[in-house]
Amino acid sequence: MERSRKVLFVSHCILNQNVKPKGKEVYPGSVKEILNFLSEADVGIVQIPCPSVEFFSDFERERKSKEYYDTPKYRAHCKKLAKIIIKQIENYIRSGYRVLGILGVELSPTCAVYQIENGNRISPGKGVLIEEIENEMRKKNFQVPIIGLNYNNIYATLEKLQTLIKYG
Ligand code: SF4
Repeated sequence: MERSRKVLFVSHCILNQNVKPKGKEVYPGSVKEILNFLSEADVGIVQIPCPSVEFFSDFERERKSKEYYDTPKYRAHCKKLAKIIIKQIENYIRSGYRVLGILGVELSPTCAVYQIENGNRISPGKGVLIEEIENEMRKKNFQVPIIGLNYNNIYATLEKLQTLIKYG
């Protein structure tokens, strides 16, 4: 059997909705459309740890704003994680694998890529972990694409993934 040598880094809750804040799960287990799509495309999935559940050790936590999460301690926690993720990405690339990118989760105060949610307000912005991943990539002077899963339009996300597989 030949390896596809293609991997995608994904936010933890895309494969395991059990870590989402209380009442924010959209699927009982994993996001089936994404899982099926990646499986069909022979893409290896690297699951990023959930920064929020690791930091708070709380599976029943309420969804809070980015301001609530963005404390020096939480940012330091995400920075540490970002360094590990970047190291893993570098290892894959150095070993001749294609890292298609990172799939985050829109509206999350930690993993959003373009839009965050504060109460009922949605505004442009990134989550703390994504900011720290981008900082680390800037320091190291390299880049992989980062896209965000939009639960209101899963099919737009699948199209973006298709593009990454084709051209990434
Ligand atoms: S912190 Fe990230 S991985 Fe954890 S539940 Fe929120 S969006 Fe998902």
